[in-house]
Amino acid sequence: MYNRIGDNMKNKIVLIGCGNVGMSYAYALLNQHTYVDELILIDMNKDKIEGEAMDLNHCLAYSPSRVLVRVGDYSDCKDARIVVIAAGAAQEVGETRMDLIHKNSKIFKSIVSQVMESGFDGIFLVATNPLDVMTYLTLKYSGLPSNKVIGSGTTLDTARLRYLISNKVNVCPKDIQAYVIGEHGDSEFVAWSNANIALTGMDFFLTKEEQSSIEEEVRNSAYEIIKRKGSTYYGIGMCLVRITCAILEDKKLILPVSSYDSKNEVCISTPAIVDQEGVCEKIYIPLSKDETEKLKKSINVIKEAINSIKD
Ligand code: NAD
Repeated sequence: MYNRIGDNMKNKIVLIGCGNVGMSYAYALLNQHTYVDELILIDMNKDKIEGEAMDLNHCLAYSPSRVLVRVGDYSDCKDARIVVIAAGAAQEVGETRMDLIHKNSKIFKSIVSQVMESGFDGIFLVATNPLDVMTYLTLKYSGLPSNKVIGSGTTLDTARLRYLISNKVNVCPKDIQAYVIGEHGDSEFVAWSNANIALTGMDFFLTKEEQSSIEEEVRNSAYEIIKRKGSTYYGIGMCLVRITCAILEDKKLILPVSSYDSKNEVCISTPAIVDQEGVCEKIYIPLSKDETEKLKKSINVIKEAINSIKD
């Protein structure tokens, strides 16, 4: 069993919010070799999570993972390494992520205060939308140091971007160095000026028109999926597992997660080094003039959203 150097704690994860996103994360965890020992489920819908725990435990005989799943309560957060929050309202057809702000900010106030009452001192991983605002509220309500509060940010958008580029240029998505940064929402953008494959700039592989069309497709992906199947969850489930592994295995992976930007006083996505302490460093990649303007716009969108919350 992997342990953080110098202690004997189990790798315990508490998952709050066991709907489509939460359970996709849980199922993806069981399908991979992770160092998670225990997965605790918390949700308002008790019957559902009892069923989910039973169903997931029935995977263990054939799973590469050894994670034991059970229903729990907020006292379980005390010795958890990571509390993942995927609770709250999801987008309906025609709704933006920002439209969820008032419903989900109330839910977060109550959830984060209950987690902190347990004595929790681990890392928060937030998936609920509007993502950057919910990450910021988690930081504010918890009072934890900013490295310990991570939002999934644009990890999903970046995965979508790499998939679309890989389809076009016939290269493995893992070998594409390209990031979506900014808000996880309508003002997000691709930092094309630094994107490359094998250290070769993206203009060599894609015309400007192709780049714009891919960027547009990434930005609209969630809307297109929601229109067809109601919600999106497998992609984000996989992103959350990747972030979880970066933390538990102290991997120092570069991931475009949302975290606190002290200069602008918002949580926003830039590539960041993720390890057992959470976000150990945010990387501010050099941007073109046009991209710098887009980043400023994204910061303002998030700031205005935060300011619109009454308390
Ligand atoms: P869902 O409706 O399927 O699940 C939400 C769950 O939260 C439900 O099980 C509900 O009972 C639970 N819940 C609500 N209030 C709660 C509370 N106070 N305490 C405990 N549990 C509570 O929704 P979903 O599709 O799983 O989406 C969850 C969130 O994730 C949404 O905000 C959605 O927009 C977001 N999302 C984020 C990304 C991303 O990239 N970060 C991707 C997809 C979806």
